[in-house]
Amino acid sequence: MKNSYPYYFTWSNQPESGPFSVVRAERDEFILEGGKRVYDFLSTSFQTNYGHSQPAICEAIKQQLDEMPIASPKASFALKERVSVQLQRALQLDGGKLFYTVSGSEAVENALKMARQMTGRRTILARQKSYHGASLGALSVTGDWRNEPHFTVDEYTVRIPEPADDPDLRRTTEIVNATGAESIAAVIVETVSGANGVAIPGQAWFDALQSLCRQHGMLLIIDEVLCGFGRTGTDFAFQSYGVRPDLVCLSKGITGGYIPFGAVWTGPSIVEYYDANLLSCGLTNYAHPLGLAALEAVLKLSSEPAFNDNKRHLEQLLRAACNRLEAIPSVREVRCCGLLAAIDLTLPAPAWDTFFQRGLHLYSKKNSLIVAPPYISTPERLQAALDVLIEIITSPDGPK
Ligand code: PMP
Repeated sequence: MKNSYPYYFTWSNQPESGPFSVVRAERDEFILEGGKRVYDFLSTSFQTNYGHSQPAICEAIKQQLDEMPIASPKASFALKERVSVQLQRALQLDGGKLFYTVSGSEAVENALKMARQMTGRRTILARQKSYHGASLGALSVTGDWRNEPHFTVDEYTVRIPEPADDPDLRRTTEIVNATGAESIAAVIVETVSGANGVAIPGQAWFDALQSLCRQHGMLLIIDEVLCGFGRTGTDFAFQSYGVRPDLVCLSKGITGGYIPFGAVWTGPSIVEYYDANLLSCGLTNYAHPLGLAALEAVLKLSSEPAFNDNKRHLEQLLRAACNRLEAIPSVREVRCCGLLAAIDLTLPAPAWDTFFQRGLHLYSKKNSLIVAPPYISTPERLQAALDVLIEIITSPDGPK
């Protein structure tokens, strides 16, 4: 049967009817035709961290629309200066500069371009299981099914093992030596992987990766598109490892999804390089004022004590539920940090639809579930969602 819609559905066989039809969204819920409410247990695609109707962000965008909705990519203006300083401060990295984009994929594209231009080297090391974006450059370093049909030019991508399979980087070091370190521009890693299973590297892995990069003059690109802006507990996930990356890719939570936006933070060595060399990167909608206005509202909201107290409470609830889940026989492993968790089951997980019918929008694929609740949920709402999830996987129809 053909999809009868005048548009495509992403990353899927085109369905006869769309997975779900929404009329409105409010706080942490989708409201469907007929009024049914579905809890957005995945923060949509990991971006609606601040909910679907966040007054602070909506107001900031509306105000900016009245003041100056559009700007030349080459223009300097007060908002651009102010927000860039605030974001640098939030990243807690010394010095550096920001390059703005419209999506996470473009943040990765530009980080790769800068790393190659600056080092004059071509090869990028990327993890076996990873997602870095849908455009050809970002796909070329992506390690999952999504790059297979696209003939991406990945002859300059070299795969390194997952942290759990190479905790002391012995094999990665062999790969660097076999490839020739002098040809490797950068290593790109998600700090904590998202849709590919919430793999949380150990401290020793990150320490070893950082020193391997330093030793060989390879740049360290940290992809925080999904886990940046508080998803894993700290403001940015790399901060919990004490890592000092050369480039950081940001998007999703940067505006909470209200405006398509992204950024690359580049460290002092890259700034110095571009003080002397032409920057061959740019976008029509570079540093879009509506994106900057939304980002300023996000940074303000993220520093509010009440917002953070609520977020910490939710993190504790999710952690407690994960402990309960670990004791269930049909659960093989649970990986959780902050407001992000993957639950691996011993048998195929109940279909996405099973959860949706019960009012939960989450990720269910093969043997795994992934949840990432919005930070503005109430503890009661999150607890209710967790109870339903546990009920479904322990029900006689769920995995046994
Ligand atoms: N990197 C990571 C880690 C992501 O999760 C994503 C999006 N899922 C991207 C890059 C690409 O972002 P976008 O879809 O905004 O281009």
